Amino acid sequence: MARCLRLLFVSTPVGPLGSGLGGGVELTVVNLVTALAQRGHQIEIAAPENSEMIGANLIQIPGTLQPTAHTQGRDTPAIMVENAVLSNQWAYARQVQHSYDLIVNFAYDWLPFYLTPFFDIPIAHFVSMGSLSRVMDRAVSRVNDKFPGTLGAYTQTQVDTFPARLTWQLLSSAVDLTRYNYCDTPEAALVWLGRISPEKGLEDAVAAAQETQIPLKILGKLENQDYWETIQRTYPNAPIDYLGFVNTQQLQAIVRRCQGLLMTPRWVEAFGNVAIEALACGVPVVAYRRGGPAEIIDHGQTGWLVEPDHVAGLVEGIQKLDSIDRHHCRQQAESKYSLSALGIRFEQWFDTIIRQHQ
Ligand code: UDP
Repeated sequence: MARCLRLLFVSTPVGPLGSGLGGGVELTVVNLVTALAQRGHQIEIAAPENSEMIGANLIQIPGTLQPTAHTQGRDTPAIMVENAVLSNQWAYARQVQHSYDLIVNFAYDWLPFYLTPFFDIPIAHFVSMGSLSRVMDRAVSRVNDKFPGTLGAYTQTQVDTFPARLTWQLLSSAVDLTRYNYCDTPEAALVWLGRISPEKGLEDAVAAAQETQIPLKILGKLENQDYWETIQRTYPNAPIDYLGFVNTQQLQAIVRRCQGLLMTPRWVEAFGNVAIEALACGVPVVAYRRGGPAEIIDHGQTGWLVEPDHVAGLVEGIQKLDSIDRHHCRQQAESKYSLSALGIRFEQWFDTIIRQHQ
């Protein structure tokens, strides 16, 4: 590392850090702060009020939370709510910008892309979802043209959903292995992790639990109550247990005792942090062969990739979970998703952006 960078992270405006409303990008922010602080960088995070993150320099920004992009249609225009936390975060960033070498945007929203040319210091944009709206595609494309090299993403399959001519820095993700314990002796139970929202396809995991009669633990933020009630009505005999949204410590204590994690995304999952969290506990994954999980899971080695939207494939994968070596899953998490490697990747990306701006 050449020098200590002063970084301002502008967190997702859809929820406070620690609330679960932001999904996997919340974990990415936490991991990055840890990894970059270990490398001697100085980070402050401008995040929605009531954010929680131990050991971080948080600036609590008031305002109304932004609706999540995945609940909007492809042609929905940019949304500006009254007293938006998003605009308050960026007003703050503009005011303090000269105290930093770089601002890092974690919002999947039009505004930070639009504002980029009005800042004096460079902005790196970490895009946490695939293409969901035309307004975002255009905003991202404009930043790509004016500030090449400043777009970052998780995976190739994610960036393939955006216009082909854009240039991306692929940064993948990581787990802090010290926070996840390995377990070799699972109970007869499966687990499903994530926001309870239609794009996550929970109903297929519940259908597989009903068919196999293997208990399914469900953990995550209840985002769409109607959706959840419909699932319960549709599969009355499924052995499911909803345990709510829990923190990482509680999550790993539950996950590690399960035979396998089920991932059933209907959309192109940009990454799927829950996959590597499960692997870190030694838990294999049965996932639809679609989006991030298809890049993460080694078919037959760390789980089974099955035909998307087919419950029969999930059931088959569940029946073959015993043949996966759990120790190998943990090793994959260690070798491919280490926190220190994540820190180096982001540091190099930031360094290039800062040098190009000088
Ligand atoms: N998660 C959590 N507690 C729960 C369930 C999930 O903290 O009870 C977190 C999980 O650790 C992961 C995130 O929710 O970081 C889900 O992220 P993922 O990348 O899998 O999907 P996204 O929500 O971004 O679509």
